[in-house]
Amino acid sequence: MDPLLFPIQELHAHLNGSISAATMKKLMAQKPDLRIQNEMITIDKGKKRNLEECFQMFRIIHQITSRPEDILMVTKDVIREFATDGVKYLELRSTPREEESTGMTKRMYVEAVLEGIKQCKEEGWDIDVRFLVSVDRSRGTAAAKETVKLAEDFLLSTDGVVVGLDLSGNPQAGHGRDFLEPLLEAKKAGLKLALHLSEIPKREDETRLLLGLSPDRIGHGTFLHASESAARDLVELVRQNRTPLELCLTSNLKGETVPSRAQHHFGFWYPLGHPVVLCTDDKGVFATELSQEYQLVAETFRLSDEQVWALCLDAINHIFASSHTKTKLREQWRMLKPTLLE
Ligand SMILES: [Zn+2]
Repeated sequence: MDPLLFPIQELHAHLNGSISAATMKKLMAQKPDLRIQNEMITIDKGKKRNLEECFQMFRIIHQITSRPEDILMVTKDVIREFATDGVKYLELRSTPREEESTGMTKRMYVEAVLEGIKQCKEEGWDIDVRFLVSVDRSRGTAAAKETVKLAEDFLLSTDGVVVGLDLSGNPQAGHGRDFLEPLLEAKKAGLKLALHLSEIPKREDETRLLLGLSPDRIGHGTFLHASESAARDLVELVRQNRTPLELCLTSNLKGETVPSRAQHHFGFWYPLGHPVVLCTDDKGVFATELSQEYQLVAETFRLSDEQVWALCLDAINHIFASSHTKTKLREQWRMLKPTLLE
């Protein structure tokens, strides 16, 4: 599958985790006193890290992206890299971060991301980019409320670039109940909700609470179908609502939440005809690309080119941009079909 000939949409990409090795090199060159080695921030082919170690890597990445100009540069590089991989529609997500050492505020952080998106558009990159503001569950309710307020401001002022809110961060930290109020507030304000759910086992109670918000998409949902028989209602609820799942094969394998490719929960949901969208999660940290994720899934679950094409087409239904954008993307897909499947 030639990635340049296979345009796709990426709906689950964390900005900091998506930074490529090449961009990391540029950042590290600017901050030699931090003495950070490459292997501390990417997991090469064949290697694994547990989830805790992955979050350790993010803390290091945050140290080298501490100024608005760093955020601008990484946003532009990440967008160009996705475009080069054939991605035509991208939803980036990131937690607004303040850095005392550099004077960067959360607002400046979001503005730098939006500036990066704007500049790529002006430079003529053939990719439509939107932004989801992330709530980091390890930072508590007060920070979440502040983030939601910021997201609401940008929802109103960016004319469709800021489209939603994401709940993410270390799943071991905090509890979903602490975020119900701010998430509900975001939903009422018109922000779409993409929530990381059931990333680790035995979180049925939290998952039930969060599903009560009727999220627009679910991140991972790795252990939804593996829950105890008493929690089978969770799978039923997700199926009834047809809530799309964002699935990230390489991320789950390298983060060691799924033991093997063949055991990935794509194999549970896809045969049910449930909407799933393939995504990278953190293409930099996990050393992957979206085209590679499609290839892996196609190989592992023996999907035909026609099925992969249909999977991409269905993913358009689950983007957070307007129906006008969906129609445009669908047209693009249909026009490209003969070239892609020949
Ligand atoms: Zn994620």
